[in-house]
Formats: sequence, C-alpha cells, structure tokens
Amino acid sequence: MLNVTVWNENRHEQKNPLVKEVYPEGIHGALASFLMGENVQVQTATLDEAEHGLTDDVLAKTDVLIWWGHLAHDEVSDEIVAKVKQKVLDGMGLIVLHSGHFSKIFKTLMGTTCDLKWREADEKERLWVIDPSHPIAEGVGEFIELEKEEMYGEHFDIPAPEQLIFMSWFEGGEVFRSGCTYQRGKGKIFYFRPGHETYPTYYHEDIQQVIKNAVKWATPTKLPKPVYGNAKPLEIIKVKN
Ligand code: ZN
Repeated sequence: MLNVTVWNENRHEQKNPLVKEVYPEGIHGALASFLMGENVQVQTATLDEAEHGLTDDVLAKTDVLIWWGHLAHDEVSDEIVAKVKQKVLDGMGLIVLHSGHFSKIFKTLMGTTCDLKWREADEKERLWVIDPSHPIAEGVGEFIELEKEEMYGEHFDIPAPEQLIFMSWFEGGEVFRSGCTYQRGKGKIFYFRPGHETYPTYYHEDIQQVIKNAVKWATPTKLPKPVYGNAKPLEIIKVKN
C-alpha cells in the first residue's frame, strides 16, 4: 500500500467563490479523489490545521507528498519545512504543483529564487512531451492541451532539471519548462506546472494521469540506508614498504 499525503494551502477556496465553485471540496479534495486507488491510500492536510496537518506521525507514514500553495507560503512554519526537507532527503517523494514553485520547501530544495514570468489571460497552454521514454509521461499523447490556463514563462530560475519531461507553449508566445525532475538525497522530486485555482485543470484526464504517474515514480525505494563516515576495509590491505 502506497501512502500519499496531499497538502493544500486551502485559502483561495475560502476567499474566492469562483474557486470554491471549481473545487467545492478544495484542490486537495479534487487531487485526493482521483489519486485514491486499490493500492494507494490518500490523506489530505491543510495550512490551517495544527502543524499544517503535517505532524511527525503523518510525515512518518507518507511515501509521497503533494504540495499546492500560493497565497500564504510565508505562513508555513520553518520548522515544518525543515522536517519535510529531511523526509525528502531520507527518501520521501515530493510533487510540487503550479504556484508551489515559490513554496519554502521547493525553494530550499532547489537553492535558487524559482522566479518566473506570469499572466492571467485565459490563454491556451500546450504541454509538449519532451521525454517520451519517461514513466511520468506514460499514457498521454504527444502533447496535453488546456483551453484556458495561467501563463508561466521563461526564464524560470531553477537548477537545470535532471530530466525535463514537459515543455509548455502558451498562446501569448512564451514557453516554460513545465515538468522537471530532481533528486535530493534519496528523495525524488517532480515539479509540474499546471493547476491555476480558477481553472478546472485537475479534472483533465491527462493531467490526472501525469500526477498519478509521478506518484508512482516518486515512491521511495526499499534500498538499505547508505552508511557514511569512517569505514573499515573490506579486504586486507597489504602493508607497503
Ligand atoms: Zn496560479
């Protein structure tokens, strides 16, 4: 059984009736409902819960954490961010969605500003599959088309992705690295761009497929913990004169 925790700031849903209409159960609710499956157990956590819903107990049980935040990145406590970071280094998968590019957890794991261009103009987005060999792209066609999305444009100030899986084109002319993977310590990280709160993006079948694939890809491996520090030789080292 795979344990997924969907973390959502859950502020737009309370402040903006339009967002509440698109996501009546919150963005976390929409994500959880399609991720839940035979071998996948999903729980949700939100900013306003005690410890943002990310208690030691919850984190200990989480194989893959999904992160959606936007308005209140600064309200996420540094202590929780440090715990999440340590969990990632120890092997927990992390999927950062859309405006999570500016979250404390993503910025600290990347080490760059993670800044970008943006525009809200109801424009078309076409996400081209750049790496058709990658399991995260499995089951989608040559591209995914979203009728209306927010634009994110280059330059996106991130370290060079280890694998670049999607590249977005926007109607207004910009392009953007929309699907990027990283490894930090033993943890796998996937950044996936789409999902502005006023659009029904997370109901799109291909977007759901990509996030499901990413969860599978980011699942921790069961390898033994590496041993660090001073090491005894495995063979007898001959004395050299
Ligand atoms: Zn947005």
